[in-house]
Order: sequence, then structure tokens, then C-alpha cells
Amino acid sequence: MCEICEGKGWYSVPNYRTERLESVQCEHCLAEEELKETLSIETSKLLVNFSKEKLCRMLANFCVDVFHSRDEVSRLQTLIDTKSIVGIEGFLQVNLRRE
Ligand SMILES: [Zn+2]
Repeated sequence: MCEICEGKGWYSVPNYRTERLESVQCEHCLAEEELKETLSIETSKLLVNFSKEKLCRMLANFCVDVFHSRDEVSRLQTLIDTKSIVGIEGFLQVNLRRE
């Protein structure tokens, strides 16, 4: 957690001229976001060398593991049967996030 802005991305500083608090964007968090974006682009350039099949199998194994661990294999089967690209995409977007 950022000690400057407590993870909010912005923090308040007093402006003595106007006698008000002003919101300032946290430079530290901004730099971290830029670093993450750069790393993401570089990692993406590495991953692009994987075969499509290999990447798909890795993601598919992930999907199966998650649905299986939740005892919801039938939900995955429904996505497969209905060829729900939107459903799988939504699932991946939610479940590939690390909290
Ligand atoms: Zn910060």
C-alpha cells in the first residue's frame, strides 16, 4: 500500500494562498502504473511467441481447474455447448484478476 496516498492515487495538500486543500495526483503511484504498463507490453511481446494452441491450452486448463474447484463443471459445459465466447471472456476477465 502506498504510504503517500494510501492507495487512492490522489492526496490532499494545503494551498496556503487560497487556504484550501488541493487534490494532487500521487507521482509514486503514477510511476508504478507506468512501470506495470511497460512490463505488460514487454511480457506481451514475449507471450506472442507462444503458439496460439499452447496459450489456449494453458487458459483452458485454468478454466477447468477453477470451475472444477467450485463444483461448477456444468456451467463450463454450458459455455462450451452454447459456444459462449462472451461468457468465457467475462469469466477470464474476472478470474485472472489477483486480489
Ligand atoms: Zn500513491
